[in-house]
Amino acid sequence: MSLDETVSSPAKAGAQTIARDHSGPGSAAGNEVRNDWTREEIAALFDLPFDDLVFQAATIHRANHTPGQVQLSTLLSIKTGGCPEDCGYCNQSAGAKSGLKAEKLLDVRTVLQSAAQAKDRGSSRFCMGAAWRNPKDRDMPAIIEMVQGVRQMGMETCMTLGMLTEKQSQMLAEAGLDYYNHNIDTSPEHYEKVITTRTFGDRLETLENVRNSRINVCSGGIIGMGETREDRVGFVHALATLPRHPESVPVNALVPVKGTVLGDMLADTPLAKIDDIEFVRTIAVARITMPASMVRLSAGRESMSESTQALCFLAGANSIFTGDKLLTTGNAGDDADETLFAKLGLVPMEAEPREIQLEAAE
Ligand code: SF4
Repeated sequence: MSLDETVSSPAKAGAQTIARDHSGPGSAAGNEVRNDWTREEIAALFDLPFDDLVFQAATIHRANHTPGQVQLSTLLSIKTGGCPEDCGYCNQSAGAKSGLKAEKLLDVRTVLQSAAQAKDRGSSRFCMGAAWRNPKDRDMPAIIEMVQGVRQMGMETCMTLGMLTEKQSQMLAEAGLDYYNHNIDTSPEHYEKVITTRTFGDRLETLENVRNSRINVCSGGIIGMGETREDRVGFVHALATLPRHPESVPVNALVPVKGTVLGDMLADTPLAKIDDIEFVRTIAVARITMPASMVRLSAGRESMSESTQALCFLAGANSIFTGDKLLTTGNAGDDADETLFAKLGLVPMEAEPREIQLEAAE
């Protein structure tokens, strides 16, 4: 992969006019969800003066969501390490030399105990992640029991298990799964510099299977993987032009882990940490182009200042992962989040069962 410049180019004269000309759908004035965004429009949003961009994003956020409410999710690794995929950012890839030990699928009871603890700490959604290329049919009964058990606790359920067949999607839908996470990761152009064991098209196929099963889609990506501004435009464009926007859009900042391809490549370079302003710009553009989606401030929060996180919330992020751990890397932690929420006057959002969301969308 190339280590291209990641920091924004200066705002271009005229960019503001171009973006503001689209003052109807998807912009500060409107709530209409558009799926016909062009790359030029999205690039123009990125190029806006920072204040204008954040103001526009905050206005759209307030028109579509309750300000000050943040949805809290907890993520548990239900099957850690030994993954046959070669995602360059991931320490769970069998090829990574991060010292992470591969484990078996956790038993259902252990998973449900973790879910109960997460609920006690205020989480409304419990996300379960397995380091698989795809689930095997023999794994499905345990997976289904986990979904059903977490749902019975009154929490929303989310799973991320790799690629899914139509049949597996259907089985998960019937078990009551609320969300399926499958990130597109980055732009179509940058994708093969990060992952070679599956294609961008494979990702889209699984997203389509999930969507056709009427499970809510959670799909986003990672910023700071050596991509260019153009790639970030392409990343948002790929999501914002899906036939229906993902209900949840996680935007991660790369956590460079030693022993992973990207961790080693970016370590000790200026690209080891994404520029905070550029990260906030990406959140803001995601909010403007996908006004009804939940934009989740995901991995990388533990190394972000409170001020940067506050700017992300202002720019439209309205979901976070709580707890000390995200699968296998560190997270901000419940105490830090409580302090931050108190300082900013933010409150946790209540869970919404899937049936209600689907009815509301029709
Ligand atoms: S990101 Fe997921 S699919 Fe990729 S190596 Fe890690 S666990 Fe496997």
